[in-house]
Amino acid sequence: MVTDGSRPLEIDTGKAHPARVYDWLLGGKDNYPVDEAVGETLPPEARDAARQNRAFMNRAVAHLAAQGIDQFLDIGTGIPTEPNLHQIVQRTVPTARVVYADNDPIVLRHAEALLVSRPEGATDYIQADVRDPDEIVRHARGVLDFDRPIALSLIALMHFVPDDQDAHGIVRRLVATLAPGSHLVLSHAAIDLMPELARQVIDQYAKGGIRLGFRTRAEVTRFFDGLELVPPGLVTATEWYGPEQQPPKAEASGIYAAVARVR
Ligand code: SAH
Repeated sequence: MVTDGSRPLEIDTGKAHPARVYDWLLGGKDNYPVDEAVGETLPPEARDAARQNRAFMNRAVAHLAAQGIDQFLDIGTGIPTEPNLHQIVQRTVPTARVVYADNDPIVLRHAEALLVSRPEGATDYIQADVRDPDEIVRHARGVLDFDRPIALSLIALMHFVPDDQDAHGIVRRLVATLAPGSHLVLSHAAIDLMPELARQVIDQYAKGGIRLGFRTRAEVTRFFDGLELVPPGLVTATEWYGPEQQPPKAEASGIYAAVARVR
């Protein structure tokens, strides 16, 4: 068993895990019967949400790379699913440096796929919890230059951090380390867009032992306090695209998404 400090890094196949349920929703193979059992009870829209969220990630980071951003800190990375963030951004900026972080041992198990950088750039993986932002930043400083712009991506992550764990304070702390011209890329499941479906999803995850804190538009907006939202602002995942990009297929989405600039 690999250990990281005091935290055991054994794969627990007796309990559902967020990264593995998400992998199941995306049609991946890196999940176990316990994860599938949660996935099977979710409304079909949950699969749409996972796909829409992943597509938002793709567009948002491609857009930032097109703007010349070449440093990325991606927390709550998930099980590798091609294309991964570094593959997307290194298409445009081969020298891009990417630090990934996730707290699930299954992601560490598959981290090799995240570490195959273009030789001109770099990628790194840290097994860490977003609720310890200082540890993540300390590690990331070894790879990224915090005096230059960084894109911090928290994509479909913060709804796993309920209010009693200071979700907004954590994001504030991370953003405070970023230089002007940096960006926050964040997507988040909504409680107020499709409230009935959201309630079902929350209940089914809870039965699988996973606590979710879906949020309202106002609560998600607060993650961007003090930042400058870039067009089109805070919208649903399927409504967000860069000015240089093709609009995605119009479809309803229960995921809020935005990109904002650090002044
Ligand atoms: N960002 C990816 C994956 C989203 S799934 C994407 O959008 O495609 C959410 C991920 O967050 C999972 O991999 C899960 O393991 C991770 N996660 C959940 N809580 C976390 C925490 N407290 N710290 C770090 N990662 C966490």
